Amino acid sequence: MPVAAAGPRILLKRLREVMAEPENTQNRLNKIAALIASNMIAEVCSIYVMRPGGVLELYATEGLNPTAVHKSKLRVGEGLVGTIAAEARPLNVQDAYAHPAFKYLPETGEEIYKSFLGVPLLRAGLTLGVLVVQNRASRLYTEDEEEALQITAMVLAEIIASGEFDEITADVEADVAHVRSHRVVGDSLADGIALGHVVLHEPRVVVTNLIAEDIQAEMERLDRSIHALQDWIEAAVQGLEIPRGEHREVLETYQMFAHDRGWLQRMREAVRTGLTAEAAVERVHSDNRARMLRQKDPFLRERLHDLEDLANRLLRILTGQSNTAASSSDLPKDAILVARNMGPAELLDYDRQKLRGVVLEEGGSTSHVAVVARALGIPLVGQASGVLDIVDTGDAIIVDGSGGEVHIRPSPDIEHAYAEKVRFYAKRQEQYRALRDVPAVTVDGERIALQINAGLLVDLPHLTDSGADGIGLFRTELQFMISSAFPRMDQQVAHYRSILDAAQGKPVVFRSLDIGADKVLPYLAQAKEENPALGWRAIRMALDRPALMKLQLRALLKAAGGRELSVMFPMVAEVDEFRRAREILDEQRDYLEQRGHLLPKRIRVGSMIEVPALVWQLDRLMEVADFVSIGSNDLVQFLFACDRGHPRLAGRYDPLSPAPLSIIRDIVRAGDAHGVPVNLCGEMAGRPLEAMALIGLGLRSISMAPTAIGPIKAMILKLDAGKLADYLLPLLDLPEHSLRPHIMAFARDNGVPI
Ligand code: PEP
Ligand code: MG
Repeated sequence: MPVAAAGPRILLKRLREVMAEPENTQNRLNKIAALIASNMIAEVCSIYVMRPGGVLELYATEGLNPTAVHKSKLRVGEGLVGTIAAEARPLNVQDAYAHPAFKYLPETGEEIYKSFLGVPLLRAGLTLGVLVVQNRASRLYTEDEEEALQITAMVLAEIIASGEFDEITADVEADVAHVRSHRVVGDSLADGIALGHVVLHEPRVVVTNLIAEDIQAEMERLDRSIHALQDWIEAAVQGLEIPRGEHREVLETYQMFAHDRGWLQRMREAVRTGLTAEAAVERVHSDNRARMLRQKDPFLRERLHDLEDLANRLLRILTGQSNTAASSSDLPKDAILVARNMGPAELLDYDRQKLRGVVLEEGGSTSHVAVVARALGIPLVGQASGVLDIVDTGDAIIVDGSGGEVHIRPSPDIEHAYAEKVRFYAKRQEQYRALRDVPAVTVDGERIALQINAGLLVDLPHLTDSGADGIGLFRTELQFMISSAFPRMDQQVAHYRSILDAAQGKPVVFRSLDIGADKVLPYLAQAKEENPALGWRAIRMALDRPALMKLQLRALLKAAGGRELSVMFPMVAEVDEFRRAREILDEQRDYLEQRGHLLPKRIRVGSMIEVPALVWQLDRLMEVADFVSIGSNDLVQFLFACDRGHPRLAGRYDPLSPAPLSIIRDIVRAGDAHGVPVNLCGEMAGRPLEAMALIGLGLRSISMAPTAIGPIKAMILKLDAGKLADYLLPLLDLPEHSLRPHIMAFARDNGVPI
């Protein structure tokens, strides 16, 4: 039986010689076909090249009828050649005629050849053509032959894409493999709609130098880079480079693969056949990629994904291309980032002017990157599984952060519909902007303070844009979450000072660190907990290990020297906890005073009300707090014993129901009785119907996402608060699942826009 006579090594050498000869395109392809045929002891070798419209055209052949060149054509999916292109994988058949996909092309004279081996010409995930060898005798080609042809195909694809064959490839890229429109449904993690073009956060490395000059040297390069990769993973697993937490599992898988003998062995073998180290990585990588695309089991698919990431990293080490797209100088002006996952700090590295949206294969609503995307006002869809397999750099893409959908290479209809949506959205925003300087006063003259929730310096421009009265909740933990190490005192002081400067005299309520549960600091080791939401978090941590809180409170006091400082504590469950926290603040104030520091003009200390137990201590709390703020997200979660992030429980209980609304009413009344201001800063404050109900319960200060200010103000301007209170308060005695229909009816009957 014939085997790959001279092996790929000699063939690669000969190919390089052919490349060096001055030849025109056609002659060069003819020579290559002849070379492959003789090297593989094949009677036929044919090169099919992808043409516009997904047509594979016979471009050169050794063995078939030469008059068929440029005449024989097959569509993608048609015949054996078309099937190879469509599936982007090799086809090895003993009897071509017997194969159900076979299509007879009489002009080629191929009927006498039975055995058939074809491989796709793949480059950077695109199919540029198909390479085929055929023999008369009916047999299956060996694994070695298949491997040799794939290596040859890789080099051929590079030659085709190298520019010399521009006339061939000019239109191909737009028409092959990744051409279809796709809709991927994921989770909506940050609102908004963006139309733009794909930027891969971690660009794929394109290998251009394929044939080894010196095999020994290439082997050494490969070994060195594998060691560098293994070292990087060890460092990351030890927690030296990458945050612990959600990455950990992935890292451990990396670790396993990076020491996987099979994987390393296959790459070394590829170098031995005459490829450069990077070409060898790419070669093994594209096999994995093909396997991955066929994989149905999500767990295995995920693991192969890890392997793909690892190969990419290895390629970066070998080629020295170690940066993410953030450092690229040619970022399009409507960039939509696509990544498996990314950290919040990585997102902040991008030029905000050019960044329109983000799509992640992973990422949950509480992930830090989602928090930052919301702060930046960038639409984000997470859990968009499989997107990386179907996008290419520069593809048109739409991110619908509101509906949790991604459209890749959308049809003109979809694009049109979304462009319309964006226009509508912009028009609405325009109308809200017109309300910016109009005070939020109800029809019956009640002034409602509208504030924004913030957490990063990038949020501050929204304070002016929205015309809000101040910042009702500044989540200080966000800065800690995006840092790679604990922010030092001087960094904290500078940060808080710049927040106060940017607020230009409008009040800012800083909340002390609310960490634990889903808010993880990468550099702070935390034990795994059974029930993290009910665990050692926020004020509990702060009181047990006061060093962090002392540092933070001192930084806040210093930053607010000469100005007003408002601080509140999260997750307070009993008045005693609040008192102790307040004492720590007083100690820090005294400490600074003794050392002659400029102190804040006035210090206001408040408590969040998020734990139901505190509701039975309202009078005592009001005696010691300067203000309170209802954290309805947590309060409702604990009240109903219902995880706020659980997808199956979302919407099960309604905050517009008798229990939570009665509690809010009681808090408002206690505040009024003691002259203590009450605010509410949970998500419900940003939804017009819910906000309307809150005003009906007597709240006069609410804090929300900046984009909600416009719609909420539009609602307030048409609301008669007294009339609503008369209507709503008696309803709290109804034993109903939800009061929503009643509240909606009020809005409708009174023309309140919600
Ligand atoms: C809340 O619980 O309502 C709140 C505002 O705090 P966070 O969402 O940060 O837990
Ligand atoms: Mg909370």
